[in-house]
Amino acid sequence: MFSLHGTGIGGGIIVGRAVLLESHRADMPRYRVDAAVRSDELGRLERAIDAVRNELSMLAESLPAEAPAEAQALLQVHALILDDPTLIEQARAAITAKGQNAEWAFASQAEHLAEQFEQFEDPYLRERGRDVMQVADRVLKSLSGSGQALAARAAARSAAHEVPLIFVAEDISPADMLQLKRAGGFAIDLGGTASHTAILARSMNVPAVVGLDIGSRMVRDDDWLVLDGESGVIIVAPDESVLQEYRHRMALDAIERKQLERLVHVPSATLDRVAIELHANIELPSEASGALESGAAGIGLFRTEFLFMNREVLPDEDEQYEAYAQTVIAMKGRPVTIRTIDAGADKALDTGHEGAESAVPPNPALGRRAIRFSLAEPDIFLQQLRAILRAAEHGPVRLLIPMLAHGHEVDQTLRLIAQARSQLSEGRSRELPPVPVGGMIEVPAAAITAGLFARRLDFLSIGTNDLIQYTLAIDRADHSVATLYDPFHPAVLQLVAQTIRAAERAGKPVAVCGEMAGDLDATALLLGMGLRSFSMHPASLLRIKREILRCDASRLKPRVSRLLNTDDPVRLRAALRRLRAD
Ligand code: PEP
Ligand code: MG
Repeated sequence: MFSLHGTGIGGGIIVGRAVLLESHRADMPRYRVDAAVRSDELGRLERAIDAVRNELSMLAESLPAEAPAEAQALLQVHALILDDPTLIEQARAAITAKGQNAEWAFASQAEHLAEQFEQFEDPYLRERGRDVMQVADRVLKSLSGSGQALAARAAARSAAHEVPLIFVAEDISPADMLQLKRAGGFAIDLGGTASHTAILARSMNVPAVVGLDIGSRMVRDDDWLVLDGESGVIIVAPDESVLQEYRHRMALDAIERKQLERLVHVPSATLDRVAIELHANIELPSEASGALESGAAGIGLFRTEFLFMNREVLPDEDEQYEAYAQTVIAMKGRPVTIRTIDAGADKALDTGHEGAESAVPPNPALGRRAIRFSLAEPDIFLQQLRAILRAAEHGPVRLLIPMLAHGHEVDQTLRLIAQARSQLSEGRSRELPPVPVGGMIEVPAAAITAGLFARRLDFLSIGTNDLIQYTLAIDRADHSVATLYDPFHPAVLQLVAQTIRAAERAGKPVAVCGEMAGDLDATALLLGMGLRSFSMHPASLLRIKREILRCDASRLKPRVSRLLNTDDPVRLRAALRRLRAD
């Protein structure tokens, strides 16, 4: 028995048998093809690509009604990669000019394209390199004649076993994941929480762990596995006592889920009746239904950049308006906080407008991202602002500006919002509804001068994910420094507390919308700092509500302010534990 550790994507605990899915790249044949038969080799590649294209379109057509909304989009992304003219042209050239065999030619061009994605700072875009390699894997599978083998093999295995199957792989493409309908869980070596596979696993609500590193090489086919999608732990060949323990925890989880469901309509307030707003973070309009089911009071963060990614042509004003309006309508009168694009120097946003050739800067996290990007591209920004203002006709909308650091960024944004509004008012008989404008505090400079932002804006929202990254100088996407990424570092806590105080003084609402809002270890602490609004992934919402129902805000206040005077991280952690235990 031994354990493997990765990043939990959620979905609870599962006990099942391992099914190893091999990558077709590891044992890929590599040889030179004679000039005389290179045209045959080209034909072989074309046929394989056609077969994969058909497979993807058949999968898309046969998607069941209950398939997550993202599934269709993910299949389209893979079809787009497959049709990428440069990828195909260069693979063809490698066959005709260099005499590489089809597998070699296609895989090496795909690797080249994937490497370009890996240069991006944005973890979401970096993950797109994996989509390219997943497509390459499908083409290699098709070239080796085993294209349909996966689903057939999985079906045979699940018929042979009465137990759930846990698919273990270096990587699994979203398309393969969709074929594995009987899957009980997924254990994947690569990736982080922003990968398409992780996004899909989350929305299919299957237990999944990613980022296992060499996990797939440590597990054998048919091994018994315990997979905990919450903590990111996998236990291989567990002994009977461990199995008993996890079965017990699964039973408890089922009971907990039932209990939590009862809290959906319970008002969110502390013991001393202080009302606390709980909002949901979403990436796509289709996630609004999940937010409603969890009882969210609104959308606290709509990460709109996801609408702009994997696109050859950016969504125009009307398409964006449809997406925002759809979300606003789905939320049935609850407020929707739409954050303007938070992306950096990346391909998807650079397509089709000037700057396309600009090199990726050496340190893009400190570069032209978020509001800096929008202010540098006023046409794209104005389009988005108009779409957001129009969506407000369907219900309450709030506009959120990411990554502010300077007061003049607020002034410039407010001027552009006024311009967008006046552009829209031409030819309209009715005035568009007012849209409150807020700012994200996620750079230490903004936290230290939060009063300035609170006075100029209608509300603040603290992005702890970036605030931690920039305060501690820890790249949030870099595994090698992940252990230093500490939400409870005294410097981070002081900046969060300071921002909440500044908003209170200015009489403006303030929320936390980073991962810290969904972290049970931080709930009492944030309440004690005076926070009254949290925004998080919908899956965390009811657990946080249960914690809030147990807290007494007035008792927490003096205890937290004492705790904030502690600059020793060890003593601070002990004090935090006591705060939760009482
Ligand atoms: C944050 O930085 O905390 C945040 C909510 O924004 P994102 O995670 O999208 O950068
Ligand atoms: Mg952020």
